[in-house]
Parts: sequence; C-alpha cells; structure tokens
Amino acid sequence: MKTPFLLSAATAAFVFLVLACGPDHTGDSPDGPIAWGFDAGAPPVDAGPGPEVLPEPELTPEPEPQPSPEPEPQPSSEPEPQPSPAPEPEPAPEPEPAPEPAPACPFVQVTGTAGYPLNVRPTPDTSGAPVGTLVEGQTVAALSGTEGEAISGETWWWQIETAAVTGYISAVYATCTDETPPEPTAGFLLPLTCGTSTTVTQGNSSAYSHNGIANYAFDFGLPLNTPLLAMDHGVVLMAKTDITPGHPCYNGGGAECANHVNYVVLGHSDGSATLYLHLNRADVQLGDGVVRGQLVGHSGGTGWSTGPHTHVQRQSQCGSWWCQSWPLAFQDVPGTGVPVVWQTVTSQNGCGG
Ligand SMILES: [Zn+2]
Repeated sequence: MKTPFLLSAATAAFVFLVLACGPDHTGDSPDGPIAWGFDAGAPPVDAGPGPEVLPEPELTPEPEPQPSPEPEPQPSSEPEPQPSPAPEPEPAPEPEPAPEPAPACPFVQVTGTAGYPLNVRPTPDTSGAPVGTLVEGQTVAALSGTEGEAISGETWWWQIETAAVTGYISAVYATCTDETPPEPTAGFLLPLTCGTSTTVTQGNSSAYSHNGIANYAFDFGLPLNTPLLAMDHGVVLMAKTDITPGHPCYNGGGAECANHVNYVVLGHSDGSATLYLHLNRADVQLGDGVVRGQLVGHSGGTGWSTGPHTHVQRQSQCGSWWCQSWPLAFQDVPGTGVPVVWQTVTSQNGCGG
C-alpha cells in the first residue's frame, strides 16, 4: 500500500527525524532512515492527526523529505480541543463509589496517529510540554488510567511506561490490548556465513541512535559485499535495491540519504520481521520464501552511513520497512544471546546441524 506524500515546501521545513544506527569503527555512521514531516499549521497528534510523511516502504523511489538531524520539538502551543461534555453516568442507586470508568488494561497500543509520533504528557492533559513520544503501532505498558482533558470528546488518559518515558497519552490514540511483543523464537542466528566473525559497532539501547524505534538494533562492522544470511526462516516482505553505483547515496551519505538505502525485510512466523539495512544488493525478491541461512543480500554502505556496515533489527510488521524494534537474541551468541558493543561474535548460521 502506498502512502500518499503530502509533503509541501512548508512541511519540509518541519521534519522530525528519528535516527538509527550509528558509529562504526571509524566514527559516526548514522543510518537512521525515518523522517516525519509536520505541516507548520498541523495540530500535534494528541489534538488530532494531520498529514503525514512516512518512510517509503515500496520499491518505487519517491521524493523524500529533507531529514533534519535535529529532532523537532513537539509544538508547544496546541489548539484547544473541542469541548465535549462527558456523558454523565446514571446515578448509581447505591452510595458505593463508582467503579473505574475503564477496565484494567495491561498494555495499550498506539493507534490512529496517521504516522505521527504520539506525545507523552507529564499530566493527563496537553498543558505540559511532552516528555517523550511513542510511535504508531508501539505497544507499551499501561500503569493506570484517569480522567483528564477531553481530546476529540475522549476524556480518558492512560498512564504509560516504557524504558524511556513515563507519562500520559490520550485514549483517543491508544487501544487497550493484552498482547505483548512475542518472545524471541530462539531461532535466530547471526546473519553471517558459518564461521564468520564480526564486531558489534553499536548494540542495543545506545545513546547514539539505537533507541526508540531502533532500540534493539545491532550494527556489525562488515566489509563491502559480505554475504548476509537469513537469521530465521521467513518470507521476503520488502526488498529495496534501487541505490546503485553512481547514486549519491550509494557509498554512504548524510541525512539526505536516510531513505535512499537498500534493504531486505523478512517476515517470520512469530509475527516479527527482521531488517537487513545498508545493503549493496539484495539477493532475494519480494515474496520469496527463505530458510534460515539462505543468502538474502550483500552488505554495503548505502543510505545514511559513513561506510560499509550492516544494521539489523527484529521489529514489528507495521507495513513499513522501518518499524518498532523488538528484542533479538542470537542462538549463536554465548550467554544471553544479546551481544554488546565492541563484542566480537562468530556466526554459526549455515554451519548445519
Ligand atoms: Zn544501526
């Protein structure tokens, strides 16, 4: 499905950028490929969605917004929501306190933001500056709920918590769910041929760029054209290969190259996907079924990168190539299976047995 581009010259001036990936051996190599555009007059998401600019998930290249390396602060002044009188419940016949107006909810999923980040507020209203943002499709723990400012007639706010932020989001943009991100299948192996060693140049939860959407990503320092293997069985959900020699983003580039990058996304039976980013080329095609250890591409330095390396992450299947990352543990990494920065790991993928 194509996302219509509504970017205008005005929106291009207000681009919110989420970085991903980061330094390699020689220095910074940001490879974060996402950018959201804001129209100057568009309301923030917790007062109503506006036009969106999403990373292009299709094979066809399209004009991209000019990403800005500086995250744009959420607009601080917000239009007043339309006052909507909350329906008063019928007086209870007994004097007991009314039950909680919303059922207990272990998790909420961010919905209906039209691709915008969702503001997390310090209080259940829009008076305070946002303390963070969530991405559409993200599932977070709901600590409690409370009545607050009416947004589009909805007065309920969830108090949510992630590793990065605690605060309130309007129930307009959150759906109660008891679903949690699926546990790793324990079926993932490093994306390298049997016996190949590499160094993790950026691990999970880094201050640099593996946070937020990319929190559970890994960067591996790899020479150009290193074969990359499927980390688990799957099917090719997306493959972008249009960045070829001669393209200004072929051998790395700055923020303007954030979306000009080759990648493969595999979908897995546990509901997750895996992303193989900065490829020189892909060796699979859309819809291909692949088995663990099958060649999916060759490493490169396409996109926002200072040179060849590979960024991989396990992520949700959100309809884009850039989705909320989920924990990823490799069977062939000793201990927890989660390598840390500067750790050297050796792949057992494709070794057989
Ligand atoms: Zn990375």
